[in-house]
Amino acid sequence: MKRPHWVPEGTDQDTPNVARVYDCYLGGSHNFAADREMARKAIEMWPDLPRIMRANRAFLRRAVQYLAGEGCTRFLDIGSGIPTFGAVHEVAREVRPDARVVYVDIDPVAVAHSRLMLRDDPLCEVVRADMRDPEGLLAEPAVAALLRPGEPVGVLLVAVLHFVTDEEDPGRIVRVLHDEVPPGSALVLSHASSEGRPDQAEGHQELYRRTPTPLTMRSRADITALFDGFVPVEPGVVFLPEWHPERLETVGPHPELTTGLAGVGRRP
Ligand code: SAM
Repeated sequence: MKRPHWVPEGTDQDTPNVARVYDCYLGGSHNFAADREMARKAIEMWPDLPRIMRANRAFLRRAVQYLAGEGCTRFLDIGSGIPTFGAVHEVAREVRPDARVVYVDIDPVAVAHSRLMLRDDPLCEVVRADMRDPEGLLAEPAVAALLRPGEPVGVLLVAVLHFVTDEEDPGRIVRVLHDEVPPGSALVLSHASSEGRPDQAEGHQELYRRTPTPLTMRSRADITALFDGFVPVEPGVVFLPEWHPERLETVGPHPELTTGLAGVGRRP
């Protein structure tokens, strides 16, 4: 099969990949047959998945709007994925036209496509790095340049830490980032949880065990502990639609069915 122009040479198209499976859930077009097959199976088992992913993107948008409204002009989006409508720089610039964003992802397809999309944007950079090596990530020249004393940064770890196993220690990743960002910076985090739909947790995690990137759903207590050292922004760690909803009606009657937990914390 001919390789589309946005696919880097050597990309494994036969194994499902979490960035591209997520793109399928969101109705994107940067995915291959193996990704679509995995998304199809996952949605067959759990029909609410596309709605959950949209709730996650909507949380990301509201959190970035909130931080930009508080004056934040620098964003580090880790595990940024394949850019879909409503990327961080687009949302932030509605409030702060001078917003700078460094996008980081481990997936070569996500990185290649982001570079293509952002090639004419002098205030955005795209870096390929593995967040499980946070020191290496912070040493990347584009990331190091973003972190200036006195300039708070919004660090996004949105729907990404569940791809870090307990042995790989997600808490350590957050601690390293916490210690390196300027005071006043914020952590924006969302995470797949085993609350809300505990009946779905095992089957869903089993599907991801077949990819190179297993998924670890965590409890509210574990996710809240990831914010250690940060001062929580009200209302703390809540289900995705509950974080600063545009209107009360947008929360819906059963926010727990979106299962993902989310929050924002400030580094003192
Ligand atoms: N943050 C975006 C959002 O919430 O819409 C995309 C989330 S997507 C579910 C997870 C992303 O994390 C994928 O693009 C994947 O490639 C990336 N990812 C997974 N493990 C990673 C790692 N160790 N380092 C950097 N990125 C990683």
